[in-house]
Amino acid sequence: MPEEHGWTEVATLVSDRDYDLPIPVADEASEPFYAGAKEGRLMLLRCSQCGRYRLPGRGRCVDCWSEQSEWAQASGRGKLYSFGIMHQKYHPAFAEVTPYNYALVELEEGPRLITNIVDCPNEELRTDMPVEAVFDAVSEETTLIRFRPRATG
Ligand SMILES: [Zn+2]
Repeated sequence: MPEEHGWTEVATLVSDRDYDLPIPVADEASEPFYAGAKEGRLMLLRCSQCGRYRLPGRGRCVDCWSEQSEWAQASGRGKLYSFGIMHQKYHPAFAEVTPYNYALVELEEGPRLITNIVDCPNEELRTDMPVEAVFDAVSEETTLIRFRPRATG
């Protein structure tokens, strides 16, 4: 676990019950992202030419069109760019957690990540609220990155 960020923790947020929601499976493009999450790191691609960050799976920099990039650890901080509350049960596994929020978090580094906000009632979600990453170990193999409200000042 890296020491440079106080926010880093790998926790099991749903330890009081079995986690039976669908779990994403890493592919070749996202494997370093999930490997990082397992260690409490939010990993992004950084353009080797201009330094702009992008999400895994984006082959090209939108600024300079370079295909060259390296993995870099992000701060884990951002703000809630947009969100919605899901009331519809599209998948039986979600029955127990509905209504739940889905959120678009704008990271300090720029990219916007689809995630969930935890440690905050859905009624208290506000756009632009500062958030920070938390690492939710949902299985032996997989840690998901979610966000929680971040105290500022
Ligand atoms: Zn670039």
